[in-house]
Amino acid sequence: MGLTGRAQTLFEGITRGDRMSLARAITLVESSRADHRKQAGALVSACSRVPRPKTLRIGLTGTPGVGKSTFIESLGMLLLRKGHRVSVLAVDPSSARSGGSILGDKTRMQDLSVAEGAFVRPSPSRGSLGGVARNTMDSIILAEAAGFDVCLVETVGVGQSETMVADMVDMFVLLLQPGSGDELQGVKRGIMELADLVVINKADGALELPAKLTRSEINNALHLMVPRRPAWTPKCLRASAVTGYNLERVWDTVLKYFDGLGHEWDALRAEQREKWMWREVHDLLMARIRRDEGTRLFAESLKADVLAGGVSPGVAAELIVERFISLKT
Ligand code: GDP
Repeated sequence: MGLTGRAQTLFEGITRGDRMSLARAITLVESSRADHRKQAGALVSACSRVPRPKTLRIGLTGTPGVGKSTFIESLGMLLLRKGHRVSVLAVDPSSARSGGSILGDKTRMQDLSVAEGAFVRPSPSRGSLGGVARNTMDSIILAEAAGFDVCLVETVGVGQSETMVADMVDMFVLLLQPGSGDELQGVKRGIMELADLVVINKADGALELPAKLTRSEINNALHLMVPRRPAWTPKCLRASAVTGYNLERVWDTVLKYFDGLGHEWDALRAEQREKWMWREVHDLLMARIRRDEGTRLFAESLKADVLAGGVSPGVAAELIVERFISLKT
């Protein structure tokens, strides 16, 4: 599909590296209006064809207060000094659920957000988590076309947002605080299994020693896990976003990880695209099924039996899908 009018202007702005055009394009991607969706689709496709050197997509997660924004601010500034152009995007499940947001409420990344060479975008405050995540995937592509070669995607360590972010990035980093080793029983363990790198932040002052202890606990736990990639064993490092301690080492480790990806890199990107295509298929189908009056009424008529246990949810689901297909063909 060719670009017209607004999409064409935005495309030209983006490929010039203009941040304002990039911000406007992301707003277009986030819009739910049918004509905007069409323009956005064409724009994202055009941007994904812009030839660029390899980019690094890095996901970052951690519970509120662990130091994500401080860490991204410090690491981001370090990367600017190294000549990178850094974009920061966010997927915030709290904004999708409640309209409030964990990530966006405070003034964040004060230096980075105004620095030349950086682009910081808060998580949109509307939309389902799936929708927000999908828009983020598109925003990564737009930011890369604008010449941002490192993309940091931040998310809060709750809910399903980590899995979604892990599916859209090349490397996933988990931030922990000193003393948080115990939390890794249960729920957090699932998150740790996604991590290619664990950073124990706040390794400074009185927290230096606890940070060492937590690091060895995490290292023990990492050794027991099955690595996600054959060529990479997840690492754990201590760092301090405030003093800058070990940030260079964190970045070296990130680069080693990317070096190690080698020819797997292209496969990884292809895998990401495929996963997102299927997520999209899933979401579109669900939206169509929900909108279809006949199917909705049929599902409604089954509901009482499902709730009472007379029909199993699996059988009901199959009947609903069959009904939807038969109504459409
Ligand atoms: P977020 O909610 O994960 O984004 O966390 P913030 O970046 O807002 O940080 C939460 C608090 O931890 C703030 O008071 C920060 O100043 C503090 N903090 C962040 N990084 C460090 C660090 O490396 N060392 C110390 N001592 N405090 C930190």
